[in-house]
Amino acid sequence: MNNIVYQVHNNLYINLTNRCPCACVFCLRNKTDRVGQSDRLWLEKEPTVQEVEAEFEKRDVSSFDEIVFCGFGEPTERLDAIKEIAAFLKEKYDKPIRLNTNGLGDLINGRKIAGELAGLIDVVSISLNTPSEKRYMEEVRPSFGKGSFGALLSFAKDCVKVIPKVVLSTVATTLSKEEEEECARMIEAIGATYRIRPFE
Ligand code: SF4
Repeated sequence: MNNIVYQVHNNLYINLTNRCPCACVFCLRNKTDRVGQSDRLWLEKEPTVQEVEAEFEKRDVSSFDEIVFCGFGEPTERLDAIKEIAAFLKEKYDKPIRLNTNGLGDLINGRKIAGELAGLIDVVSISLNTPSEKRYMEEVRPSFGKGSFGALLSFAKDCVKVIPKVVLSTVATTLSKEEEEECARMIEAIGATYRIRPFE
């Protein structure tokens, strides 16, 4: 099966890169080489925009529910490719487009990026993971160090202003009830939606 565009449930996922500035203790990449109907999500080389578009041309995109930027790495490492591909998808197919991200795209790109996603991305889903910077640093281990958690929250706030739906997520069973309640309060204050995603 293909590793650039792959199917998960009834959605098409785009695997743009294996680069990521984090080393999450729970990262799926430590346990498996594949997700959904993919074969191996480790890329020999990052696909070009044209290669990704060609993958969509081969498929009956109309039969899928959603298109998702999410692979074995952080998609915003390739912000320009996201923008180009999303514009192509918007023009060609009438499907919602989601970006799954660790929320550190501002630090990765050295500038605020939410405005660049406006009109191209319908849903931004950010992995919040924990309600506190201390636990975030222990579990996500971002190479940017301290300030990463604040940058994530700032990106989420920016997204709420320009993206139709913004979701912040934590993983079921990894937080106490009190911590989940704290996340819910933080996310409500930001104006985003809270999702507790299943433990995989
Ligand atoms: S941000 Fe995602 S890809 Fe990066 S280490 Fe964490 S779980 Fe893995």
